[in-house]
Amino acid sequence: MADKSFNAFEMAQAQFDKVADMIGLDEASRDLLRNPIREYHFSIPVRMDDGTTKIFRGFRSQHNDSRGPAKGGIRFHPQETIDTVRALSMWMTWKTAVADLPLGGGKGGVICDPHNLSQREQEQICRGWVRQVYKNIGPNSDVPAPDVMTNGQHMIWMLDEYEVLTGKKQPGLITGKPVGLGGSLGRTEATGFGVIYTLREALKHLEMKPEETTASVQGFGNVAQYAIRKYTELGGKVVCVACWDQNDQTSYTYKKADGIDLDELLGITDRFGGIDKAKAQELGYELLDGNAWIEQDVDILIPAAIENQITGETVNKISKQVKIVAEGANGPTTPEADKVFQERGIFVIPDFLANAGGVTCSYFEQVQSNMNYFWPKEEVLEKLDQKMTSAFWDVTNLSTRKNIYMRDAAYVIAIDRVASACKTRGWV
Ligand code: GLU
Repeated sequence: MADKSFNAFEMAQAQFDKVADMIGLDEASRDLLRNPIREYHFSIPVRMDDGTTKIFRGFRSQHNDSRGPAKGGIRFHPQETIDTVRALSMWMTWKTAVADLPLGGGKGGVICDPHNLSQREQEQICRGWVRQVYKNIGPNSDVPAPDVMTNGQHMIWMLDEYEVLTGKKQPGLITGKPVGLGGSLGRTEATGFGVIYTLREALKHLEMKPEETTASVQGFGNVAQYAIRKYTELGGKVVCVACWDQNDQTSYTYKKADGIDLDELLGITDRFGGIDKAKAQELGYELLDGNAWIEQDVDILIPAAIENQITGETVNKISKQVKIVAEGANGPTTPEADKVFQERGIFVIPDFLANAGGVTCSYFEQVQSNMNYFWPKEEVLEKLDQKMTSAFWDVTNLSTRKNIYMRDAAYVIAIDRVASACKTRGWV
């Protein structure tokens, strides 16, 4: 449930400040990088199916574009706030930098719950969002993508509106488009697969064999589903997944001690990643509390839902067996929980490294869209694997060499790249 006292932006700034102190970043760069460079707030009026008109609040935050066009998804979420969007745009800046992509960081959102909106109403929100900011986004300035509760269909409605308004075809405006309409093969899989490419390297680093490991996953949306697919292919066993139940407005953990069956679960899952709990029980899944995923005796935890999930409170429930946390979600771990990870020597693959596969593939999609020439899936995934693997080792080698925490090492690399781009441009 929403925790009103949690502020993702304060958390993103605290993470930044810690590393800015560590590397002695100058005052002006600090001021510049602590806040988004630009942000837009607007209202989107929508004529609903019942004839009434509803006003939805929309946002776009462009945190930094010194290394290239701002880049990042658009979330549809009933608890969306401008501070969450700001934090996520900041994390996008670090994400594109750590993956060494020629892009900056942005994020958008709309306060809405797609569970309760028809397809037509969602289309109107997408078109309305673009009408409000089309002058401030573009293939060379700010490139949106899917995120929590948005997908390729939403992206194509947005692109269509943009092309109508600007009078030309501009597929490089947006990524995460459907394949055949400017999308890249492998984009749907990219974030989840990317998490596991980094996890595979972490296992090598820790001299652990994937086939001898078990994992517990929070979330069952796009990221979690493909992460489970790839991890299982490596021989790992997922013992449980936790996800949101829209009817009960709470989450549950679905457990099968001898390993969940991904395809079986996908057969009883809605398009938001909600599992049908009655059917799951019929299939022999144990139904546990939504927080139970974190307490399992497993080697690996994969939080792949939303921010603020591993907190000062829940972190102490983590089993002694856990060696690795691979953060598929953005901002799942609070600074208090982070301290405990450090004390316990848990190896963390931080969010903006672990889940950089999505934006990396978005970058490939942009390149392909701009060339109007599309690569086979194997080529996309091979390039993705190379990028993720090299980003992982950049961070891990620095962490080992300087004896610093993995999250801090990722920040050092990212902040250094962005700060020097700002400096070279003469901004600070
Ligand atoms: N929404 C994804 C993220 O948080 C992808 C962003 C993108 O592809 O631009 O990384």
